[in-house]
Order: sequence, then C-alpha cells, then structure tokens
Amino acid sequence: MSDHEVVLVPGDGIGPEVASAVQRILKSADAPVSWIERQAGLAALALGDDVLPDSTLDAIRLHRVALKGPCTTPVGEGFTSVNVKLRKKLDLYAAVRPVRNLAGVTSRYSGVDLVVVRENTEGLYSGVENEITPGVVTSLKVATESACTRIARWAFAYARRRGRGQVTVFHKANIMKLTDGLFLRLARRVHEEEYPEIGLDTLIIDAGCMKLVQDPAQFSVLLMENLYGDVVSDLCAGLVGGLGVVPGANLGEEMAVFEAVHGSAPDIAGRDVANPLALLMSAVMMLNHLAETTGDDRCRHAAERIKAGYDSALAAGEKTRDIGGTLGTGAFADAVIARL
Ligand code: NAD
Repeated sequence: MSDHEVVLVPGDGIGPEVASAVQRILKSADAPVSWIERQAGLAALALGDDVLPDSTLDAIRLHRVALKGPCTTPVGEGFTSVNVKLRKKLDLYAAVRPVRNLAGVTSRYSGVDLVVVRENTEGLYSGVENEITPGVVTSLKVATESACTRIARWAFAYARRRGRGQVTVFHKANIMKLTDGLFLRLARRVHEEEYPEIGLDTLIIDAGCMKLVQDPAQFSVLLMENLYGDVVSDLCAGLVGGLGVVPGANLGEEMAVFEAVHGSAPDIAGRDVANPLALLMSAVMMLNHLAETTGDDRCRHAAERIKAGYDSALAAGEKTRDIGGTLGTGAFADAVIARL
C-alpha cells in the first residue's frame, strides 16, 4: 500500500513551528503519510492569496484528511474566522476534543477522561451580525433540526462505539427556549429512539461548568452547541494541564481535519517554546482515523509508537515549559523521537 496523501495547513503564529516538529516525529515513526502543504490564514494573505484559498479547500476535498495548525483571527475587526469558514464549507459538523490526564503532567485533578463533542456549523458562533442602527447591534443564533439531530447522533454513536456509558448535554434552554430548546429536545429524542442503553444527563451550562471544576471525573461525553463547546473546551484543557495537551478533530461525513484546541499563540510565536504535543496528539488521532477508514495497520502501529514515545518522555519529566518542563519545541520533538 502506498503512503496516504494528507493535507498539511501549518497556519499562523506557533502553527509552523509545532507543525514541523510533528512532521519530524511522524517521519521518524515511519507513519505512512505524504504531505500536501497548503496555506490558510495570515500565511495565505502574505502570499497574496485569499485568507482561505480555494486551492486549500480543494486539496482537503480531494484527499479527505488534513492536519491543520491554528489560524489567527483579528479581534473586533477584519476578516471573518478562517476556522469557522473552513468547518462550514467542508461541513465538518462534529468537533471532538478528548481531554484526559497525562502521566507526568501535573494538574489540579486526577481521573479526568472526558470528550467534548461540539456542534461545529451553527449556533451563536457563526458571526452573523447586524447593525440595526448606530449603537444597536445583533448577533444571530441559528439552530436547525437537521444539525442538532446529526450532532446528537454523532455523540451517542461515539459513546456506544467507545464504550462510554453517559452523555451530558450542556444547554441554556431555560433562557434560549427555541434554539437551545431544540438542541435539547432533539438530543432527548435521539437518545430515546436510538440509544436508550446510554445514560443521558442534561445540565444548564452555568451549573455544568461549576460541576466540571468541582469534579471533572464525573463526566464522560459532553455534548453542546458551537459557542459553548468553544468555551468549555478551553476550560477542560485547563483541568488537565492547559492548551498544550488537548487535541481535536473536526469531522464530517466525507472529510476530517485534525487540529489542536489551542490558537496561534502570537505571544510565544517564533521562540521555540510552544508545546507541539496538542498537534502531535491530533496527528495520532489522524493516524487512527486513517487506520479505521483505510484498514492500513501501519497507521495504527505508528500511532501507538508515537503515543508510547510521548507518554514515556512526559513521565521522565521531558516536557515543555507550559506544563512545567524546560524543553523547547524542537527539543521535546527530539525527546519523543529518541524514544521511538
Ligand atoms: P491561544 O490558544 O492562541 O493562546 C492562549 C494562551 O495559551 C496563550 O498564553 C498561549 O501562549 C498559550 N498557548 C496556546 N497554545 C500553546 C502551546 N501549544 N504551547 C504553549 N502555550 C500555548 O488563544 P488566544 O491567544 O486567545 O488566540 C490567539 C489567536 O488564535 C486568535 O487570533 C484566535 O482567533 C486564534 N485561534 C485559532 C484557533 C484555531 O485555529 N483553531 C483556535 C483558537 C484561537
């Protein structure tokens, strides 16, 4: 079997540094992947291209799998988010972020092993805003029956596949009775009609966040709309050591784009201090996805070697500064490679 062609979008800020560390590790682990590099974000603008070039979207449509670094979005002005556009254009409707403790990474909690499932295409995160009159602006929150149903199905199917016994929906249906009401009602319907053996719990999101910081180990699969998922993902990252250790995937029926939860971290870009682990863990998810969808065991084998490599490096205290170590981006990659 030949190598799998995978699109690599290095992104902005720390993106290129962490992406090149991850590429080195995958190469050393003999991951059967060949990279098709495309640009997005400020990196694309700098080349005189659109912020999300058609050539990037077309490459992902063709190859169906991508590893993506973070893309910068200007705050309060400028172009709309590349990430939002990409997820919508490719209909990557499920964002999946596994959050768990790692041996060797100190955090306030132990026993955390949960997965945030975030609806990725609608909700309040779309940035559909209007100025009604000077001084009065609105932001549109959209919920559709089809998108709420498919994300609920995705979450319950995932729980069943992974042997996870409980799905908890975070919502604010007491206030947003129509939009969050629909999200909640359809999650209940999918549960009752299709996945009755899985436990379903529902929590108003403010109380849910309190319970998360009191005892995150009580949660298994968290299901929520787009903006809540964005916020709760970072909150959950903080429970297990920070943004440097939480990977993610954006999944649709046809395509999959793997990316860390963190952003482009402009405050530390270009200094060889960023933690490449979150993107590396995303690449491990990508290799497992390739193994599942193509039946290529070499991908699973490479994923296992890499995971064993970073687990052992972390356990030996070889880690980057954000999680209490002393290594730079490149040196951490070297430490993982030395253990392969
Ligand atoms: P951020 O995630 O980039 O950074 C938050 C904090 O975490 C910073 O202090 C940063 O230094 C630290 N951090 C993040 N990743 C790290 C890593 N791998 N190693 C060590 N430290 C790390 O969030 P932000 O500062 O709010 O956003 C910066 C930019 O990233 C914004 O333009 C935002 O729109 C964008 N963003 C993009 C994505 C994406 O592309 N998927 C996601 C989130 C934010």
